Amino acid sequence: MTGFDTLLYENPAPHVARIVLNRPDTRNAQDTKLLYELNGAFDKAAQDNDVKVIILAANGPHFSSGHDLRERDAHAAMKDYRTVGTWCGFECAGAEAQMAREKEIYIGFSERWRNIPKPTIAEVQGKCIAGGLMLVWPCDIIVAAEDAMFLDNTVAMGVGGAEFFNHPWELGIRKAKELLFTADWLTAADAEKLGMVNHVVPNGALAGFTLALAKKIAEKPLFALKLAKEAVNAAQDAQGRNSAMQTAFALHQLAHSHNMQVHGMLIDPTGISPAVRRKG
Ligand code: ZN
Repeated sequence: MTGFDTLLYENPAPHVARIVLNRPDTRNAQDTKLLYELNGAFDKAAQDNDVKVIILAANGPHFSSGHDLRERDAHAAMKDYRTVGTWCGFECAGAEAQMAREKEIYIGFSERWRNIPKPTIAEVQGKCIAGGLMLVWPCDIIVAAEDAMFLDNTVAMGVGGAEFFNHPWELGIRKAKELLFTADWLTAADAEKLGMVNHVVPNGALAGFTLALAKKIAEKPLFALKLAKEAVNAAQDAQGRNSAMQTAFALHQLAHSHNMQVHGMLIDPTGISPAVRRKG
């Protein structure tokens, strides 16, 4: 009994919590419920003094297909949860409601998880698309299976990048631009070369390798781990990460508003190539 419907919560070793996305039939698409449950699971691990390291994994052949675009009444669904931010107004008119929702469950959650003071490790296999990046990028370490592939196809959909705009820090400036402009897949091997991924391992070794890494980290004093994470995150923020991300988020909202005015929907439906649709 995990207390969650869309994910599993495990303790595979002393001082290690493992959260597993468990909607494999939807390729772990992220609806409102999954995101709130994931936030709840991260909170549970963060608040458990016995947990030192948190693994985020996913059941099925693919890590995550991104946001669940089939979710109906997504804004009304926000009423079912205790919000973590104070922006609110999820059922307001026009751009206000969209910005509120994305501030809460996209950039808000991802930034919140990035700042959990315990080491987090993403364990990624198969495809990880757009919103999927917003689950793995907040983690401190990323271990990828050989078949892992990463994609942000938001530019193809008429938006300038996923809401948690960490691309420049994950990929470097030039590769960030190329990947956004082309909406091409990034292989696990290339992601490792760019420094976005720490290790690439055979698919069959993914869970074992990640757990061994978590156990090695869990041997260290928790307070020192927290301090090390805080210090590295502070170095990244001193580079202007947070303020650049807020600018990107505002531009992202502009794109949604533009698309709503021109196409009557949040995205531009004309730009998605058949190849991306097939692979996605
Ligand atoms: Zn958006």
